[in-house]
Amino acid sequence: MLKIKDLNVHYGGIHALRGINIDVPKNKIVTLIGANGAGKSTTLRTIMGLVRGSKGKINYNDTDITNKETKEIVEMGAVLVPEGRRVFANLTVEENLTLGAYIRKDKSEIKKDMELVYKLFPRLAERKWQKAGTMSGGEQQMLAVGRALMTKPKLLMMDEPSLGLAPLIVKDIFEIIKEIHRQGVTILLIEQNAKAALEIADYGYVLETGSIVLEGEGNELLNNDEVQKAYLGET
Ligand code: ATP
Repeated sequence: MLKIKDLNVHYGGIHALRGINIDVPKNKIVTLIGANGAGKSTTLRTIMGLVRGSKGKINYNDTDITNKETKEIVEMGAVLVPEGRRVFANLTVEENLTLGAYIRKDKSEIKKDMELVYKLFPRLAERKWQKAGTMSGGEQQMLAVGRALMTKPKLLMMDEPSLGLAPLIVKDIFEIIKEIHRQGVTILLIEQNAKAALEIADYGYVLETGSIVLEGEGNELLNNDEVQKAYLGET
């Protein structure tokens, strides 16, 4: 579904991505793990057309999207839940969700999807009329994911969905990612929480200072000595 070939990104003099290759097959969960500053967010931002690569190609469903505008990419069904939630603080939960569907015209389908989001996140249903900025971190993260789902994505990319959340809520978020995947959405997930990410992933890539140093099936990476030492602590 998504194929990245020899992607290079420079920020001025900083060579942030150094020729990475990533393959995200349809209906799979793929994760990208790595330390702070390894280039994980840059990868997602480049896929979405928010950052331009200096070399390399990005293909999505057999279309070259390397130089496409973000809006076109979203319309093709690829959507990013950015790091740090970024919900519209002064708008209600329902208004935030409605905005998620702004590129769609199928009114009755939008309503159905809103109900699906509320089913997936009962907490949001209870708080439809609450201003997003007054909700807890975990609730805002749920809203950010819910809003992305309102675009009816085929490929959902998530940048650190568990960042800063209490362990119990982290568990919920990973359960929800699995449920979204079960509903037929392909997932590309970036996580600091490497263990939880690899546990649900079909395939994973390890990024270090802009290069992929290791890749393999989720289970394989979980049991890899280097990954255990560098990213899984002693557990
Ligand atoms: P984190 O987990 O801390 O978010 P990351 O793996 O997502 O890290 P990136 O945010 O992709 O890393 O950053 C990769 C490198 O590019 C870092 O050295 C970062 O300082 C640099 N960088 C990112 N964005 C910019 C920018 N807009 N201008 C200049 N340098 C940038």
